[in-house]
Amino acid sequence: MKKTKLIMLAASLSIFASCEKEIETPGIAEVQKLETPAMEFRPLENNSFNIKLPDNTDSKVKSKIGDYNISLFSAEYITANGSEELGTTIFFTNRGNKMLSSDFVPGLAYDGTSDISYYIDKNRPSNDIDVKVSTAAIGRAMDSWRNVNCSDIGLYEIPYDEVEEGEELQEYGVFAYFYGIFSGNDFGGAPLYIADVYHGGWLGAEFFDYLTERGSEFILGVTLTYTFTDEDGNLVDTDNNGKADVAFREIYYNDTFTWNDGRTYDIETIALHEAGHGLSQAHFGEAFRTNANGKIHFSPRAVMNATYSGIQTAVEKTDEAGHCANWAEWPNK
Ligand SMILES: [Zn+2]
Repeated sequence: MKKTKLIMLAASLSIFASCEKEIETPGIAEVQKLETPAMEFRPLENNSFNIKLPDNTDSKVKSKIGDYNISLFSAEYITANGSEELGTTIFFTNRGNKMLSSDFVPGLAYDGTSDISYYIDKNRPSNDIDVKVSTAAIGRAMDSWRNVNCSDIGLYEIPYDEVEEGEELQEYGVFAYFYGIFSGNDFGGAPLYIADVYHGGWLGAEFFDYLTERGSEFILGVTLTYTFTDEDGNLVDTDNNGKADVAFREIYYNDTFTWNDGRTYDIETIALHEAGHGLSQAHFGEAFRTNANGKIHFSPRAVMNATYSGIQTAVEKTDEAGHCANWAEWPNK
């Protein structure tokens, strides 16, 4: 009896499903548009602290920003395809003043220039791939953004600190450092500025699970934004554009996934995406899931899509438009 009922139910459901399919998407595999996930707000207490300026910081820079502290502003992450999760943004700061985005300000920088610097750290290599290969892939991603010619952001590399024998290794990574203390882990790092955009390398499950629940299962990479704060801990907006002034950004990759140069998760693709965040871009594109295989695709497909959908090493038109909107006036805005 029970079985018969179930069969009838299944039959009527399948009729219903086939009708719906005919009406909505005749002749096409079932595709479902996915809601953009809501931004997450996770205000941190005492989220304003001092970090060390580089030893060679000149006195003009010191007088301009020496009194500022920094705060962790946001984390933007990209997800693996088939994980059922779309990438999103977590905000950590007090939103009293409603600032929900952030960008760099010409000259307001620890390196004292309006040029944007980056650093590729080799101290947290991926388990899967030689650090030379991953460094080259990240370098190519930075070149791709450098080759977008709408502005003069002066993107340049701070060379990696090669350690001579007998010298002590200087670790970098502000987020890794504080996050390690906070979570009771050792992610290396130091409370020290090295570049405007810092590629911090690969970390394991405990790093990403702590960032958000089960995060290690779906986050491929994350970009953290640090903003300047005044002595009272308030966000700083010296150019009055409604955006919090960025001190620097840091990027970390999830080593619980398999990373390969061109297969599985492609380093250059994710580095290009994260560096897009590093250069102030947000996620872009509408997400659709093909129900038959659970795969997510985006329209339009772009570097700044919130989920990985295969190799994507070219800056697309929409990515370029987003980049140029942020930087076209630089450094004269
Ligand atoms: Zn992202």
